[in-house]
Amino acid sequence: MSKVKVAIAGALGRMGNNLISSAISNTNVDLIGVFDVKDIDTNFISKYQIPENIITTREESFKTADIVIDFTSPKALFNFTESAVSNNTGLVIGTTGLDESHFNLLKQSSNSTKIFYAPNMSYGVNTFFEISRIAAKHLKDFDIEITETHHRHKKDAPSGTAIKLGEEIVDELGLSKSNFNFNRQSQDNQRKENEIGFSSIRGGNIPGEHTVIFHGDNESIELTHKAFNRKIFSDGAVEAAVWLAAQENGFYSFKDMIS
Ligand code: NAD
Repeated sequence: MSKVKVAIAGALGRMGNNLISSAISNTNVDLIGVFDVKDIDTNFISKYQIPENIITTREESFKTADIVIDFTSPKALFNFTESAVSNNTGLVIGTTGLDESHFNLLKQSSNSTKIFYAPNMSYGVNTFFEISRIAAKHLKDFDIEITETHHRHKKDAPSGTAIKLGEEIVDELGLSKSNFNFNRQSQDNQRKENEIGFSSIRGGNIPGEHTVIFHGDNESIELTHKAFNRKIFSDGAVEAAVWLAAQENGFYSFKDMIS
């Protein structure tokens, strides 16, 4: 199998740094580009042992790569999808905080190129989604709440992973996102039947913790996933890039890759 040519958007960020290491250590990948909105200087290139002739602009990265991996900001998607479609480059997107307009754009772009989106790129978390579905199926009369904890720099809340957990559960129970409650402040109401409440905690340097709580009348079950470092996300995203390179145009999720 020839190596998949990969470029990393947001290379200077927390995830960008981890993606560079994961891409360099993956034997199926040829890291051909790293770019960011900020300039990438030679110190950065030598610190991460990146080949000196690597591409450091967005335009050239999209022209040359088979797949661009994006962990940046929702705003960047408008440019990235345009470049991906015009160069027929695949996109692996891990950026969270996307809204309906972003998803419409991704689905529309996936008619002309390959797009992979996962709000969490860890195999462990994607298995956690499945386990939570099974628990929800068995614990029908239990009240379900989702909590998540992340480092002090995280911008979106609740996390994309918490929302995805909720989506998996409502899908399993035949409910909808209208059952989500993101804010109980000044809602002078008791908990509604079938409501799923979300709570977010921010602080320190925690890469990500998620808990689904099932409260029954006289017992509770808590399922928790803890990420100890970002390597679980970057390794998963680089694996997704290798997998996506072999697919037809379309819009793919982590479930498509592991099923
Ligand atoms: P960060 O702020 O450390 O890094 C983001 C980087 O993107 C910065 O260097 C910034 O300059 C760059 N950037 C912003 N706009 C850009 C653009 N238009 N073009 C090129 N570069 C641009 O953030 P982070 O902690 O690395 O997280 C990035 C995103 O990834 C967030 O949305 C976060 O929630 C998400 N995330 C997803 C997963 C997952 O598994 N899917 C895991 C961790 C983080």
